[in-house]
Amino acid sequence: MLIATPAKNCLACNKSVKGRTDKKFCDDYCRNAYNNRLKAEGNNLVRNINNALRKNRRILEEILTTNEKMTKVSRENLLQRGFQFKYFTHTYSNAKGNQYHFCYEYGYLALENNWCLVVKRREI
Ligand SMILES: [Zn+2]
Repeated sequence: MLIATPAKNCLACNKSVKGRTDKKFCDDYCRNAYNNRLKAEGNNLVRNINNALRKNRRILEEILTTNEKMTKVSRENLLQRGFQFKYFTHTYSNAKGNQYHFCYEYGYLALENNWCLVVKRREI
């Protein structure tokens, strides 16, 4: 009895792969091409997130002028400056249970009515 094995395609070039059923690539060339592409995508992802975090930090830094330890800003204002709320380096909860989101040493606490309290910490 002949068991039909499903046709498998190379993950790199999408041509059908002949040989062992667990084979994923035509050859080493395709394997390397595929792995390099994955690595490049990973690098891009890391770079984009790093850029977003740095931008968030810069925005908070701009809002917090040198002499102030904290200041209020509207969420809308942050968004207009290009702040991306989904990216932060860590969170901090104070004794009252208020959770701050930080981008490096700058952070914010979400307040009522879409206001944010921007703060800077010396030690992280
Ligand atoms: Zn291939």
